[in-house]
Amino acid sequence: MNNLPNENRSIYLDASATTPLSNEVLDTMINVYRTGWGNPSSIHKHGTIAAEILENSRWSIAKSLGADPSNIIFTSGATESINIGLLGLTELEKPARIVVSSVEHEAVINTALTLRKKGWEIAFWPVDRKGLINLEYIDELLSPPTRVVSIISAQNEIGTIQPINIISNECLNRNVIFHTDSTQYLSQALLNLEELAQLAVSASAHKLQGPKGTGILIIKDDLRKQMRPIIDGGSQEFGIRPGTEAVAQVAGMAKAISILYSNRNKPLNRLNKVHQLTMNLKTKLEEIPGLRFTGDPTNRLKNHISMLVGTNDGIPVSGRQVVRELAAHGLSASSGSACSSGKNQRSRILKAINTPPEWQYSGLRFSLGPWLEQEDINIVPDILNKAIIRVAERDEN
Ligand code: PLP
Repeated sequence: MNNLPNENRSIYLDASATTPLSNEVLDTMINVYRTGWGNPSSIHKHGTIAAEILENSRWSIAKSLGADPSNIIFTSGATESINIGLLGLTELEKPARIVVSSVEHEAVINTALTLRKKGWEIAFWPVDRKGLINLEYIDELLSPPTRVVSIISAQNEIGTIQPINIISNECLNRNVIFHTDSTQYLSQALLNLEELAQLAVSASAHKLQGPKGTGILIIKDDLRKQMRPIIDGGSQEFGIRPGTEAVAQVAGMAKAISILYSNRNKPLNRLNKVHQLTMNLKTKLEEIPGLRFTGDPTNRLKNHISMLVGTNDGIPVSGRQVVRELAAHGLSASSGSACSSGKNQRSRILKAINTPPEWQYSGLRFSLGPWLEQEDINIVPDILNKAIIRVAERDEN
């Protein structure tokens, strides 16, 4: 498997949690650490070299995504972008209502809960069994007192892609602030700001073979001017995200995004390869009677398979136990989102899509990346089948 050290000869099927740095990204970052280590705010030679790398990165990301460079704020990742976006935008507003989908990542849910402590009301936009927000609620949920709406572009646990273009347009027409968490969506090169009437978008670099600890908040100039920073400091990043920028990480992120976007329309690109592998794996998994697939079968991330695991006679088994068994046999997967997979609790997302309670512990996610080959994929169904049997046998004893 490319880019993964030899001692980890596992089959890595957890791209939605994180991805290995691509070699080109690593080379870019090493080069910046060696030659562009200055503080981009310094006015001498070293500073201007770093500032140029930073601005070229901003320009390159903007070009890939169809955004204006002045709308891109560098952050430490999606969690920070979401906090800055939702808290910074509401700082000067009178408390009103924030609407979030019931399948948001913790970063959005917990930021909304912080707003609640400041007097905001939270409304949860219900989803159907595929995890899609129900558009019948548009009028009700986008009317006053709603002031902010945050809808995840693509769900990390079940892969469902939301109709964010429709919602962002509706929000724009009604003068409601729209934010979307595009962390997973960007990783599949789906984010195109020329098509999206976006107001604010958050994402991380490490889901697309870029470095951890860096991300973007994209926000229109006019809206940015209504924001307040949520931490105090200098005037970096338009005064919205103070602190010296992580220039090498940002350059690595720009490289990762440019690799992803530059050949996305070519037939033999990395995304198509991963999509093909994902379809091949799904076809094989469909032969295992104990699996029930979750999420929307068509509006979904193309590298993502999510399912409930059970025995062939329909008894649910613990997704977390299956993940442990898979790990013991060299296969890295996840039972939910990376942030919650350490906890033995029912999945909040499976609950939101109306999964029967006894199946809410049974989520399993395979998310693929370009480091995989067909021979890696071929052995996955058999390993999974045996893992389920072993977990079920242990449960019986
Ligand atoms: N939003 C989604 C949909 C995610 O999948 C993640 C990462 O798991 C995040 C936000 C948070 O990203 P980070 O941990 O890089 O801040």
